[in-house]
Formats: sequence, structure tokens, C-alpha cells
Amino acid sequence: MDFDIAIAGAGVIGLALAETFSQKGLCVAVVETQPSFGQGISSRNSEVVHAGIYYPKESLKAKLCTTGNPMLYRFCKTRCIPHLCCGKLIVATEPDQEAELDRLNANASACGVSLKRLTSSQVKKMEPRVKASSALFSPTTGIVSAHHLMAALYRTARKQKVIFSFETRVLEARHTGSGNTIRVQYRDGKEENFTSTYFINAAGLYADTLAQRSGLPKDEVATHWWKGEYASLALPQNALKHLIYPVPQKANTGLGIHTTLGIDGTTRLGPNAIYLPEKTEDYRVEPCRLPSFHEAASRYLEGITPSMITPSMAGIRPKRQKPGDPVQDFLIHAVSKKAQIHLIGLESPGLTASLALAEHISGLF
Ligand SMILES: Cc1cc2nc3c(=O)[nH]c(=O)nc-3n(C[C@H](O)[C@H](O)[C@H](O)COP(=O)(O)OP(=O)(O)OC[C@H]3O[C@@H](n4cnc5c(N)ncnc54)[C@H](O)[C@@H]3O)c2cc1C
Repeated sequence: MDFDIAIAGAGVIGLALAETFSQKGLCVAVVETQPSFGQGISSRNSEVVHAGIYYPKESLKAKLCTTGNPMLYRFCKTRCIPHLCCGKLIVATEPDQEAELDRLNANASACGVSLKRLTSSQVKKMEPRVKASSALFSPTTGIVSAHHLMAALYRTARKQKVIFSFETRVLEARHTGSGNTIRVQYRDGKEENFTSTYFINAAGLYADTLAQRSGLPKDEVATHWWKGEYASLALPQNALKHLIYPVPQKANTGLGIHTTLGIDGTTRLGPNAIYLPEKTEDYRVEPCRLPSFHEAASRYLEGITPSMITPSMAGIRPKRQKPGDPVQDFLIHAVSKKAQIHLIGLESPGLTASLALAEHISGLF
């Protein structure tokens, strides 16, 4: 075999896997379509280190998020990666949202995550700009620089002799009995095969396409794209000290338009959740949707005017559910006695879970 492990995709998941496996002395190759690492979903997200409040207790999302959160903070500390464990408020603004806060608190507690229930005046003391009848405070939620995290993983992987092939697409991986034959295509259109004992599909938005090309049935691996647009909110630097989230949307589409802080002290609103019926990488932020950001943020933030809100950026989530379907978990689809592992539906909290997911997968072999 040419390699022990071949990985498709150099986003945060592929990089975490490469770092973890190469640390064990395995010979690892990473194949990436783009000219550099971290050009996909991993560079277009909220950069929040989630605590693990929302996911069903036994789900992979809950387990990998709650173990991934402290692992990520430890990694950031030892590797000098910009991060801040700033904490987050989930705020109730309507009487009927109080019960939802109680439900979230109970779910978090079942998952081993401690939250604090705050009164309206306690919220005001912590965040004078926030209006809330009550709130939940999550002390372990924070922010991280996704780029610096990926750069650190990439550097270590390189030091540990991982081979990266950029501008190269994995067309398919075929199980051959003793391992896999990986068919790749270079930028000039030339195609070539190489072999690996194990193959891991960490191709983000295209993981389902690659899984199907490698022989998996569409109905088991299909994902649906949900765009999330962000808007910049022109508040003075450090005007907010915590991340501020509304009570999640009932339609299971997302966590609601929340206010996140950048490591640089800037403030952003978003993401919204727009179903993309065609799989097109559309990253435009439509100015016509800015009033909905204003309306959402004004429910829980004082003094927000429309002129403070301008288009920022967008990302796309590969969700396993279509509109109206129940929320689905991450899928770790192992085939051919784990010779191939396909990672499907790696939406939020994939960034938080990245190190824990890599450790979990390395434990499968
Ligand atoms: C709007 C939004 C907000 C989010 N917010 C958060 C958050 O606050 N906290 C959190 O924990 N998570 C968050 N997430 C989720 C998190 O960003 C993702 O789970 C994570 O980045 C997924 O990483 P990945 O490596 O799987 O995908 P990617 O980063 O997309 O990497 C996959 C790579 O595979 C490459 N590729 C594709 N096809 C092929 C092929 N055939 N051959 C070779 N390479 C290929 C792509 O070019 C890409 O570089 C958010 C996601 C979105 C969209």
C-alpha cells in the first residue's frame, strides 16, 4: 500500500484527522481540491466553541461537542491559538420562551453541561445592552480563530510527515479487499490511482457526492445545503462581553439570529438559515434580508438601528435534513470493515467537535 490512511479534504476535520493519525506514526496522505487548507465550511462559520446545550443526550453531536469543547480549549492554550472563553447568554424575551429555557437547561444538564438561570436584572448587570425577561448563562461557550486552529493542525501534520496534495480532487475510493484504490484528478485534468489501507471521506459539502461515487446509496448519505448569511453590527469594540443567543427557532432550522464576537472584538449577527434547493455554492449576502437581521437583533439588543447593519459573509451547512424534517445527527458511515469511513452532515458543532471526532475515529481502528 502507498499509504496507511488517505483523507479527502483539508478542512478542520481532515486536518484534525491527519494530525491525530500521523502522531501515531501512521503514513497519511491528504488530498484537497483547493490550493490550500481550510477554504471550505471551516472558514465560513461563527467560530463558536459550543458547550453542547442543544443536542439529544446520546447523539454524536452531544458527545463529540461536550468532549471536544475542553479538548479544543486545551489545544488552543498549549498552541497559542487565539481564543476566548467568553461565555454565552441565551435570552428569553417573551413569556412563552421561559419554558423553552427550562427545557434547554434540563437537556444541557442531562448531557453534563452546567448552565446558570439568570433573572432580568442579573442579565442587565452582565450585559447592559441586552433586554431579557430571563436567561441561561453558559460559562464554557467561547470563540476561537478557526484559521489559526487549522494552521496549527496543518503545521504539526506536515512536521509529522503527512503528504498534502492540493489542487487535487478525489474522484472515488474503491475497496479492493486488502485496502482501497483512490482515483484522483489533478488540476490539469490528469487522473491517477494510489492505494491506502484506510480511506476517510472528510470532503465537507461534497462528502455525500464522494460517498455516492464510491458506491454508497444516495438515500443513506444525501445532504441538503442550508446557507447561513451574516451581517456586521457596528457596535463600539467590546460593547458586548458575551455571545448573545435568542431561544432557538421552532422550525429546527438553526439557533436563531445570534450575536457573536470575533477574536478581533468586532460583532456579527447571524447566521440565518436558507434552504438551497440546488447544490450551488452561493455565498452572496442579499441586502434585502438585512431588515430581518435588524428585527431579530432588536428583540434582545437595545439601540440597534438599521444603519448599523451591513452585509458580511455567508457559509453553507451540509444538513442531513430537508425543510420540515426532524434534526439529524452527524453520520460516521463505516463500510467494508472500516476500510472506508464517510463523514456525512458535518454541520455545527463540527468545529468544536473536530479534535474529539478525530480521536473517536482513531479509536475505531
Ligand atoms: C454558517 C455556519 C456556522 C457554523 N458555526 C459553527 C460554530 O460556531 N461552531 C462550530 O463548532 N461549528 C460551526 N459550524 C460547523 C463547522 O464549520 C463545520 O462542521 C466544519 O467546519 C466542517 O469541517 P469539514 O472539514 O468537514 O469541512 P470543510 O471545511 O468544508 O472541508 C472539506 C474540504 O474538502 C474539500 N473537498 C471537497 N470535495 C473534495 C474531493 N472530492 N476531493 C478532495 N477534497 C475535497 C473541500 O475543498 C474542503 O476544503 C458552522 C457551519 C456553518 C456553515
